[in-house]
Amino acid sequence: MSPLIEKMLTLQDRDRKMLQLLREQKDVPARKQLIESRLQAHRESLKASQEEIKKLTATLKNIEVEIEGKKDLIKKYRDQQLQAKKNEEYRALEHEIATVQKQIRAFEDKEIVEMERMEELQKKQTEHQQDFQAEEKQVAAELQVLEQRVGNIQQELDQFRAERTALTAGIEPAWLSRYERILQKTGNFGMVPVEKNCCGGCHMTLPPSVVHEARRGTAITTCNYCGRMLYALP
Ligand SMILES: [Zn+2]
Repeated sequence: MSPLIEKMLTLQDRDRKMLQLLREQKDVPARKQLIESRLQAHRESLKASQEEIKKLTATLKNIEVEIEGKKDLIKKYRDQQLQAKKNEEYRALEHEIATVQKQIRAFEDKEIVEMERMEELQKKQTEHQQDFQAEEKQVAAELQVLEQRVGNIQQELDQFRAERTALTAGIEPAWLSRYERILQKTGNFGMVPVEKNCCGGCHMTLPPSVVHEARRGTAITTCNYCGRMLYALP
């Protein structure tokens, strides 16, 4: 293999590593969002249980108001009883009082059921709160790792760029510009080996003359199908 092709392959190796790093760099915002979105789900379930508690608190308050109202009503009936002149009148009020007391008991039964539900909800909310805090810690740790990786990517890219400048200094401009154009177009390889008379990039069978040219390795030889530069494996 000619020293020029060897140099080009070293360059390609660095370029591919750089492309990989650039892709990783581009993915960072999406990865960050994905990590943060996990917290969002927790935030939502926490908010939902808070809403439920708020609603139930209002329900319980309403029950209290109803019971108080009924108790006032009984007081009013008792006062009326004191002023009752006839027995029937007194008994009728006694009957009214019994009815209201029954209503109060019904409200109190309902209150017990709702208070049990409240206890459940509060337990659930505490769990949600704990889950949220645990996830928050986890998310912060993952974001920190990602942030570190961002710094490392930049450092590696800077290193590769410096190395690349040194490498390209020894490569013929015609080969270099051709290679760079193809690499940009294909996004993966600018140079591929000839494998069993086929292009190592698109795998199409190459004409014998092209294979022959690639083996000589003295001129730029490209695949007729994908345009990648060809070289022969030793
Ligand atoms: Zn090809």
